[in-house]
Amino acid sequence: MGRKFIVGGNWKMNGDKKQVADIIETLKKGPLDPNVEVVIGVPAIYLEYVKNIAPANIEVSAQNCWKVAKGAFTGEISPAMIKDIGCNWVILGHSERRTIFKEQDELVAEKVAHALDSGLKVIACIGETLEEREAGKTEEVVFRQTKALIPAVGDRWANVVLAYEPVWAIGTGKTASPQQAQDVHASLRKWLSSNAPAGVADSVRIQYGGSVTAANAKELAACPDIDGFLVGGASLKPEFVDIVNATQ
Ligand code: PEP
Repeated sequence: MGRKFIVGGNWKMNGDKKQVADIIETLKKGPLDPNVEVVIGVPAIYLEYVKNIAPANIEVSAQNCWKVAKGAFTGEISPAMIKDIGCNWVILGHSERRTIFKEQDELVAEKVAHALDSGLKVIACIGETLEEREAGKTEEVVFRQTKALIPAVGDRWANVVLAYEPVWAIGTGKTASPQQAQDVHASLRKWLSSNAPAGVADSVRIQYGGSVTAANAKELAACPDIDGFLVGGASLKPEFVDIVNATQ
């Protein structure tokens, strides 16, 4: 056990230079619980700027990357480039990448493998749609998405955080209840105990994501298998500080 709580912010395609500087100022003031790892997912164009102004207790993450180091892939960025500007994290497989940009499990796995090969740490997102939940397929979907990651990750699970983000809860204001989230996290851990290398089920951190706010973070954080959050909308607001501090 002993999983360190980890809170990610996913700014998505939001912010301008002034706004991102303001958010960093707010986070600097915090105070942020020193026992919590904080990773903010920044639009690619602001990565280096934010990396340069962020305090040392905040990790800066890309929100996506491609699956090879360089080449003719117009518009893409590589893990090597992310590393080159001093960032160590990337978010992969976000539901917006899966739905809007049609990324399949196989591509997500290839990206995860290459990001890990390149020395990045990865927040790998999984989660079911409303239709899938209503059809009773939540576990099937979450296990399938995670299964694709098993060979990609190999024995590098210490560098991976799973983010369980039910698609119906993302940006909708509909949070999974603590029980709904805990149930999926617990069954994912159980699945990992027979499908991932020994010890991973207990050691891997599983974040919950989907309309997390300062108002619901404490109750979610109290669930035994929730090891942090991936936060979209609220990560652009001062309440992100309270979400980081939800275990206090
Ligand atoms: C997300 O983008 O990963 C997310 C969970 O968004 P929100 O918190 O806005 O639902």
